[in-house]
Amino acid sequence: MYYSLSEIFAIGIGPSSSHTVGPMKAAKRFVDNLKGKIDSVQDVKIYLYGSLALTGVGHGTPNAIVYGLLGLTADKIDLKQNYIERVKNSKSLLLGDKQNINFDFEKNFIFEKKTFLKEHSNGMKFVALDGQNNIVLEETYFSVGGGTIARLDEIAHRIERQPLDVPFQFDSFAQLKCICEKQNMSVSDVVLANERALYSDEDTKKYIRKISQIMQQNINDGVHKQGILPGSLKVRRRAPEMYESLQKRFENNVDDGLFILDWVNLWAFAVAEENASGSKIVTAPTMGSAGIMPAVMRYYQRFAHKKAFYDDMADIVYLTTAAAICSLYRTNASISGAEVGCQGEVGVACSMAAAGLCAVMGGNTAQIENAAEIGMEHNLGLTCDPIKGLVQIPCIERNAMAAIKAVNASRLATRGTGEHKVSLDSIIKTMYETGLSLQNDYKETSLGGLAKNVVC
Ligand code: SF4
Repeated sequence: MYYSLSEIFAIGIGPSSSHTVGPMKAAKRFVDNLKGKIDSVQDVKIYLYGSLALTGVGHGTPNAIVYGLLGLTADKIDLKQNYIERVKNSKSLLLGDKQNINFDFEKNFIFEKKTFLKEHSNGMKFVALDGQNNIVLEETYFSVGGGTIARLDEIAHRIERQPLDVPFQFDSFAQLKCICEKQNMSVSDVVLANERALYSDEDTKKYIRKISQIMQQNINDGVHKQGILPGSLKVRRRAPEMYESLQKRFENNVDDGLFILDWVNLWAFAVAEENASGSKIVTAPTMGSAGIMPAVMRYYQRFAHKKAFYDDMADIVYLTTAAAICSLYRTNASISGAEVGCQGEVGVACSMAAAGLCAVMGGNTAQIENAAEIGMEHNLGLTCDPIKGLVQIPCIERNAMAAIKAVNASRLATRGTGEHKVSLDSIIKTMYETGLSLQNDYKETSLGGLAKNVVC
């Protein structure tokens, strides 16, 4: 099934697409649904379930929900305004920018840590009450990955999602390859033709430029910002010192054949640290894995384009090819760490970036498939075990490792003939089955793995 570029590369507030972007959207939608009844609301209770309850505080879920309750969207929010401080200090909140209600983080959020709703592990229920404690509106939502949400009555439809009205539907890479061959199109051409059915070419270009600019801005900001990341781990930002050290070595002409690795590491760190600090980020395909696509993008801009093409089209080819790969994971597996572990986030981002880079480097359809397949094959089984529920350890370093892996996967594929034994479709199936068989302790609950064994 085809997912549009704006569904795959959504703009949101870090640090987690499933724990901040989705909940913020759900809260905003709940407030919008109050419509004419908002004046009667005196209280709002928010119940968080499963993974949202267990790691929501570390991931910033309550803050994101408050943004949504205030009626804010990721596009419009001005992070320089201290929305959260104001709510905390005044113990009140302007619901939907209309109705003032008392609001206390300690009382209004209820963390149901032992309850996993059967539909999805990222569940949340909003209950709006009037002055007599009567329910004005009650809705349950699920954050199903990549910032996508579904209401309780809609979640069954997630599997039978209504297809977008586009000329080229594909559920597998085999089908996508067939389309490419029959139509004499590249993977990127297929995505652009589909987007043309949804938006004007000008709007598509504008959107690609916008997400590319945010990615680049995250790198540029992240390499300079010093300090400690939010949360009890007190993790120091490492990107600025990495940058300084690289600059010095460059100026001193230090002979190091692996310089490029350090640059790619730096760019992935810069974005992942920006994400961990709650900046505006592009889901690629999620926020926890948002450093990989920008780092590989910067790699081809700085280092690879000498051997391939680089012009305005490069971003388009890179991002559209990656989007096609992501569509396949969303259709046949999951991009939610709470559902399939980190292989669904960092693993998918690695696969997307490898395919995108291969396309920019002139790889053919078979080589692109090979790159995407290698990018996932060596992330299979990757668990999600963030220490203290913060998207920091192992997440930040893991972005760097996966960006390097994506570059390598692309190089292996572009230097081969495209012939490979393991198809991308079989890797996606394997990833999903592996994810389903992982215990809940390893799926964004911070109950197992590093989260259990590392005491900080
Ligand atoms: S371990 Fe991976 S999936 Fe889990 S929060 Fe970190 S980046 Fe996301």
